[in-house]
Amino acid sequence: MKMSIFMRGLALRAIPLGSKDSRPPASQTEAILPHPMPRLLAEVFVLRASPNPLIYDLPEELCSRVQAGSLVQVPLRRQRLPGLVWRLFSLEKKPSFAVRPIAEVWDERWALPPTLLRLLDWLSKYYGASLGSCVDLALPKSLLRTTKRVRAEENAEKDRQTQASSIPIPTLSPEQEAAVEDMWDSYRQRRFVAHLLHGVTGSGKTEVYLRVMERVLADGREVLYLVPELSLTPQTLRRIRERFAGHHEVAVWHSGLGEREKREAWEAIASGKVKIVVGARSALFLPQRNLRLIIVDEEHDNSYKQNENPRYHGRDVAIYRAFLQGALCILGSATPSLETFFNTRQRGFRFNSLPRRVDRRTLPTIYVADMRHEMNGRLPALFSRQLLDRLRDRLERKEQSILFLNRRGYASTYLCTSCDYIATCPRCSVSLTYHRVPEHLSCHLCAHREPLATRCPRCASPDLKLLGAGTQKAEAVLQKIFPQANCVRVDSDTVSQRKALPALLEKFRRGEAEILIGTQMISKGLDFPNVTLVGLLQGDLSLHVPDFRSSERTFQLISQVAGRAGRGEKPGEVILQTFLPQSELLRWAQRAQFEEFAEEELQLRQQLGYPPYRHIIRHLLRGKNAEATAHQALAWGDYLRQRLDPSLIELRGPASSSIEKIHNYYRHTLFFFVANVSQTLPILLQLRKDFPWPRSTLDFWDVDPLDMT
Ligand code: ADP
Ligand code: ZN
Ligand code: ZN
Repeated sequence: MKMSIFMRGLALRAIPLGSKDSRPPASQTEAILPHPMPRLLAEVFVLRASPNPLIYDLPEELCSRVQAGSLVQVPLRRQRLPGLVWRLFSLEKKPSFAVRPIAEVWDERWALPPTLLRLLDWLSKYYGASLGSCVDLALPKSLLRTTKRVRAEENAEKDRQTQASSIPIPTLSPEQEAAVEDMWDSYRQRRFVAHLLHGVTGSGKTEVYLRVMERVLADGREVLYLVPELSLTPQTLRRIRERFAGHHEVAVWHSGLGEREKREAWEAIASGKVKIVVGARSALFLPQRNLRLIIVDEEHDNSYKQNENPRYHGRDVAIYRAFLQGALCILGSATPSLETFFNTRQRGFRFNSLPRRVDRRTLPTIYVADMRHEMNGRLPALFSRQLLDRLRDRLERKEQSILFLNRRGYASTYLCTSCDYIATCPRCSVSLTYHRVPEHLSCHLCAHREPLATRCPRCASPDLKLLGAGTQKAEAVLQKIFPQANCVRVDSDTVSQRKALPALLEKFRRGEAEILIGTQMISKGLDFPNVTLVGLLQGDLSLHVPDFRSSERTFQLISQVAGRAGRGEKPGEVILQTFLPQSELLRWAQRAQFEEFAEEELQLRQQLGYPPYRHIIRHLLRGKNAEATAHQALAWGDYLRQRLDPSLIELRGPASSSIEKIHNYYRHTLFFFVANVSQTLPILLQLRKDFPWPRSTLDFWDVDPLDMT
């Protein structure tokens, strides 16, 4: 049987053109490729079948209909499969290997635009991922189903039903006006410009996006509006629909869409009918041809980073796509990432700021509650008296409160007071969390569950204690103090199904509950006008994480959570409970002084050579055998040290990861600090290829990692 030849993108240039090697005899090739030279060949990614492109012949009758980006059907072994034409090239002479022809054009209406192909190419190089895995991002599985064509009109129907209602459009504040005009100036240059729009929550950033969108749409161009997690920002989508759905088709894109919805949306976007895409990071790879504005809302948000291969950062891909499209890119946040803030100082990103809330609404007042003095008997209290007093007050005034605790479950530690035994996961090096309903211990990394021991497994003592309160416990304590109050708890235990979250939030919005308790899930974007009190039960919890970004994250967390208070007519208050009331970081957060915080933090990063001054590339190794994995990590580290130029690539490690074991895999990390990723990553990947690697040790690369564990 004649097989197509699997070729790496790079090896291609080395094809022995007609050389006399031991490839199939000419007569065989002839039989498959009957027409004369020179001939056109195509590199084709057979979707979800190979990480590298295969070579196919482009028959003459298809020449006029196939180009780079076309979707075609190709033969592979005994099957006929869909593929993407990556590029075309010609050979003067008869190739010395057997090539089969492209069978047909899959669907003529669909082809990926050239800028999207270039984006995928860059993605694969920058993140060191196979081109095939990047191509998969642009062609969702649901497209491959060759079921009957669904008509995109049905989707459009839904939009027309959401007629643009006649809600009043506010008059812009002078700051908003200035930001819109500045962005519009950039747009009119018809080349890539990035803007950071910094504004506290409720300062009218979304209104600025909407105004710029309006103008770009009137110019006949398309818009991509990215949000970190669509399920958490239903209001944003509603506002966009209200404003535009009557005139422009809006499509929604996120991983939770059904297969059919995805196919419908993809087709409508590819056809150019859709003018506005609102989506999560995966929307960056949609075939919008006329894209001239990309908005990255909450640009600092970590969920823009993909935690599986290819491990890309949606914000950075957005910037690169805007660059390729010659588009305007707006990055908005109340607490910008230091990377983006740095770019306004060093890389010519423009900086627009909205320093006030609209309508003279004041920012919530943040009070610091010193938890060192708050006791509940002999144990540290979960709620300060300040917070309880204000909660009582809100319940009486029929206003709502949000309580935030970034730890789910009931208690994070199950401890034996006689021998200090702590219940830990048998598969991971973390302690088990106690859950009360139903009662069990569970691991938050691998979902291991076990019943609660009534006696210590090590010393048989019955003196076991629960420490470290989580959201379940907070809810239970609260119910005891305020039995009349209705609570809604939002964490990944209560919203394991994707549909559950909107229902819980809607219940709160309708006023059926007075108190919302949740983990970081509720720190984002939510806008409930009747909320006048926010409590951060452990405002400094995230400071104790061993990560160079812990200050930045804590600042973001406090500002974001605080921003949930006082969104309506009534002013808001925030109680920040902490064991570190003197910390300067808390004071900056308290006064919403982002720039002061950022300047100081940047100086520190510069001294230490951390991002954004350098890039980090993380290489993680894992294996089931503790010794073999450690040995491999050490040997690999030694090998690298002998070969790397430390002025180009600074290696730190290998070391046991901060979570040493997950799911029975022992983990070791190497960190590479570099000034330039595209210069250095290929060197590292080549060394990795040359070094002997046992199959029992798995590894992955993470460029610009956010997760340092
Ligand atoms: P952000 O995105 O910064 O949180 P929004 O754009 O959502 O802020 O604005 C907060 C609220 O204020 C929204 O309800 C919005 O409709 C309203 N708003 C925005 N700009 C103005 C304005 N110039 N005048 C009056 N209300 C405004
Ligand atoms: Zn014990
Ligand atoms: Zn576990």
